[in-house]
Amino acid sequence: MSKIRKEKSKINSIQFRVFLLILVFGLGPMFVMRYGVLRSFEDREVSAKTLEISNQSKLLATQIASADYLNNQNSEVIDAQLNQLSNVYDGRIMLIDPTFTIVKDTYQMDEGKVITSQEVVTSFGGTVNSRYDRTYGYLEMTLPIVNPTNQDIMGVFVITMSANTIMANRDFYRSQANVLVIILTILIFFGAVGCSELLIIPFKKMRFALEQRKNGLMDEEIHVRGCAETEMISEEINGLLNNMKVLDESRQEFVSNVSHELKTPITSMKVLADSLLAQEDAPAELYREFMEDIANEVERESKIISDLLSLVKMDKSATKPEITLVNINEFLETILKRIQPIAQAANVELVLESFRPVSAEIDEVKLSLAVSNLVENAVKYNNKEGGWVHVTLNADHQFFYLTVEDNGIGIPEDSIEHIFERFYRVDKSHSREIGGTGLGLAITRNSILLHRGAIKVHSELGVGTTFSVRIPLNYIS
Ligand code: ADP
Repeated sequence: MSKIRKEKSKINSIQFRVFLLILVFGLGPMFVMRYGVLRSFEDREVSAKTLEISNQSKLLATQIASADYLNNQNSEVIDAQLNQLSNVYDGRIMLIDPTFTIVKDTYQMDEGKVITSQEVVTSFGGTVNSRYDRTYGYLEMTLPIVNPTNQDIMGVFVITMSANTIMANRDFYRSQANVLVIILTILIFFGAVGCSELLIIPFKKMRFALEQRKNGLMDEEIHVRGCAETEMISEEINGLLNNMKVLDESRQEFVSNVSHELKTPITSMKVLADSLLAQEDAPAELYREFMEDIANEVERESKIISDLLSLVKMDKSATKPEITLVNINEFLETILKRIQPIAQAANVELVLESFRPVSAEIDEVKLSLAVSNLVENAVKYNNKEGGWVHVTLNADHQFFYLTVEDNGIGIPEDSIEHIFERFYRVDKSHSREIGGTGLGLAITRNSILLHRGAIKVHSELGVGTTFSVRIPLNYIS
């Protein structure tokens, strides 16, 4: 089975195809040329012979006319000339008179017989006929015998001659051509094998390099020089390998971040519990205080876990989004109503401004997470007197636009490009104090990308931050 597959893949290979193409395009024209050259050589020989005979016959016709040979075959001179001519051309000459009777036959077989072949009849009308029979190897001509004085047609020559010399010449050239064809065929065959081998070398190198890479024997980038195609392919493969490397690194980083984040509250709880245990007869207040701290850590641990779960759910391959047509104005009002008490507690004014009624196809749960994170962040990172958060909604025929603007602490310029990364926090201790996990914006971004939307941020340290979101009104799967 695998042998058949191997054979099949050999036939399907570029190498075999190139070999076949060179063979076909090399040998094809050569055979056509061989046939054409031999054929035209033969045709030329035949027409030269025909012309020669026709000239000889014209000369003879004058003498036949003056000796009135067609009516009276008593001229030894003409007999001799006819016999000589038939000997020279290794053939037979017959003279036909106007009654279609054979008056002279150099073979002396058919004299006195009548001949009414089409060629003879048309020659009495002045036509010169010639026919070359390739199979039996003879040339037959019928020519009118024209009286040179009055141009009357007195009779017809029928000349049948062997085409042996033509065929012998043709066979000679044919054998010469065959030798040439054999030599060229061998050269083209080996040329085709060599060319196809040469062409495939860069691909073989590439395969070798890929195998080395796959087996871990090589770690650097793949560079297969030799032809533009393989160079291009190797560049693409390097790009792909780099993407995979980046993906692998980011996965590893994520796993180590997750472990670290999950371990921190557990370590704190262990320290708290250990220090309680170490104290004999610890007062009840201390127990209470430490238990409160432990409860906070448990809460934090559970927040990290629920954020991680939300992040996983945002992955399109994990779950299919549940898309429904939602009134976005009401959707935002509900979210803001939920966050309002938190804003009030933080002394932050929270305002929603809708410029028009908007309905869009969204996954309500997932987009609600994204918007909540943005608004909660705007409230959380806003510890100023007179702090405010403005949420606006607008739309055109294609998208709806959402902005969440605050006059809070702002984000330092060098942190802006990192804030959407998982577990990234500008000020770790501050964020931790206010219950941040560093996963909120990663969830937000994934949710918006799931809706084929886009998010931008503009921030000035100490002045405030604006997040602008754009989402298509119709969900594109
Ligand atoms: P966290 O759970 O820590 O809030 P996020 O992913 O939501 O994590 O945000 C990442 C970081 O971006 C935050 O730690 C915070 O420093 C910064 N950030 C997010 N939103 C704002 C904002 N509106 N104003 C100032 N800083 C912000």
